[in-house]
Amino acid sequence: MASATQAKYLIIGAGIHGLSTAYHLSQLLGDGKDILVIDKDDVAAGASGIACGVVRNNYYQPAMRELMAHSVDVWEAHADALHYHAVGYMQISPEVMHEDVASIAQQQKDIGYESTFIEGEADCTHYMKQYFGDWQAQGITSVLHEKPGGYANNSLAMNGLAKMAQDAGVRIQGQTEVTGFKRDAAGSVTAAQTSQGEIACEQVVIGAGPWAKQFWDMLELPSTVSIKGADGQLHSDIPMWIYWSLQEGTLGVDPDFLKTDSGDMPPVIHVDSTAPLHSTTDGSLVTDEMWGIYYKPDFHFGGVQGGAAPFPVERDPNQVAVDPYGPKSPEFIVGSDFAEMWVSALAHCQKRFEGKVPMFKKEPSGGIGAFTPDSFPVFDRFCDNVMFLADSNHGYKMIGVGKLVAEELLSNQRADLLKPFRFSRYAEGDLHPTSNSPFPWS
Ligand SMILES: Cc1cc2nc3c(=O)[nH]c(=O)nc-3n(C[C@H](O)[C@H](O)[C@H](O)COP(=O)(O)OP(=O)(O)OC[C@H]3O[C@@H](n4cnc5c(N)ncnc54)[C@H](O)[C@@H]3O)c2cc1C
Repeated sequence: MASATQAKYLIIGAGIHGLSTAYHLSQLLGDGKDILVIDKDDVAAGASGIACGVVRNNYYQPAMRELMAHSVDVWEAHADALHYHAVGYMQISPEVMHEDVASIAQQQKDIGYESTFIEGEADCTHYMKQYFGDWQAQGITSVLHEKPGGYANNSLAMNGLAKMAQDAGVRIQGQTEVTGFKRDAAGSVTAAQTSQGEIACEQVVIGAGPWAKQFWDMLELPSTVSIKGADGQLHSDIPMWIYWSLQEGTLGVDPDFLKTDSGDMPPVIHVDSTAPLHSTTDGSLVTDEMWGIYYKPDFHFGGVQGGAAPFPVERDPNQVAVDPYGPKSPEFIVGSDFAEMWVSALAHCQKRFEGKVPMFKKEPSGGIGAFTPDSFPVFDRFCDNVMFLADSNHGYKMIGVGKLVAEELLSNQRADLLKPFRFSRYAEGDLHPTSNSPFPWS
């Protein structure tokens, strides 16, 4: 098929945001003939194709929580096509997070998001043992059990979403790398310059995941920002983009290994803990600092899959020969330190994982996330006709953003749910509250 030379709506990136926007736009327009999705690689080539795929609402920030509730509705509406498993989600926390999680529970109640909140160490242990008789985590004083949510199989979900868009007439063109933009005197983008030639367009949507900075630079947006702090002072020269390495992996057991005592598929489990963590291999101390893990059975990867808190990394794309953010990046191979920590933490929580470090699969897993200065998304319009969807690595679960963006493109009205994620919040000091979680995305 010949490469496209023009598209009314040009969507860059065939990940969750690009594809969701394309699909929802096609629904609003009645068909997708004016919509072109391009990707330098193909569908699911980026973070959306490797994400653990957890879909949850557990956010301390009201704006995030409401956006997630909206997104869960979208997952549920297309559960089969998107390989979505509505098994629920449990946030299991130590006392230092009790107050934050209690506030989340209350706010979930206020917006009608169904969850059960258990408090007190004895009641939490009792609650968990109803699901898993081998539950043995120490020092847990709250469990927030979200009944909606769960997870979706990453690349299968992306292929399902791509098919939904294509069935509606959207064109998806792979192997088309954007290298720059042509702009008119007013600064609006008139065409994307790509490895397949120029593509003229009226509206542009960018969903570039970990490659967000490259597009930010192509549009000559500011490399640093000033942030008005709670003290009213302006803090300048804060880098717009920083990178974290997300540590994930799979234990090579039968996925049924994690079924509940009643034989059901379990909810996604997320545990944060201040209890000292000891190696399940030799009993040595792994860490006496706060740690966190998440896990779920996974039929796609074949085992129990999950991750732990990420760590910041220096990224200088100019010093890396191959695409530094793609699946061949060295950070995709997690080391033995992660395996020891993660499996020991699993064993801290459930006896069935004791001594299972040798079953950790040595496969590429994990990846890089591009984070904004406050670690929350920037969903905003720049250069008049460019919607920039930079989710600060919150995003697999945020399938509903594309629906709101599609509505916004046609109505020219800012969606209420997206307003808290505007870029100007930094200068205005209208920031999201921060929690006590060890994860930058909670
Ligand atoms: C290991 C890991 C685990 C995660 N787990 C979860 C999770 O459990 N739950 C959750 O909600 N989120 C999770 N996330 C975050 C989530 O995956 C991302 O926030 C989300 O997938 C980003 O989607 P996107 O559409 O913006 O980008 P991506 O899915 O990364 O897609 C961007 C696309 O842009 C293309 N592209 C890049 N540069 C160019 C160019 N120059 N020209 C053309 N195309 C280009 C890429 O090829 C890619 O296909 C995880 C992330 C990682 C890395």
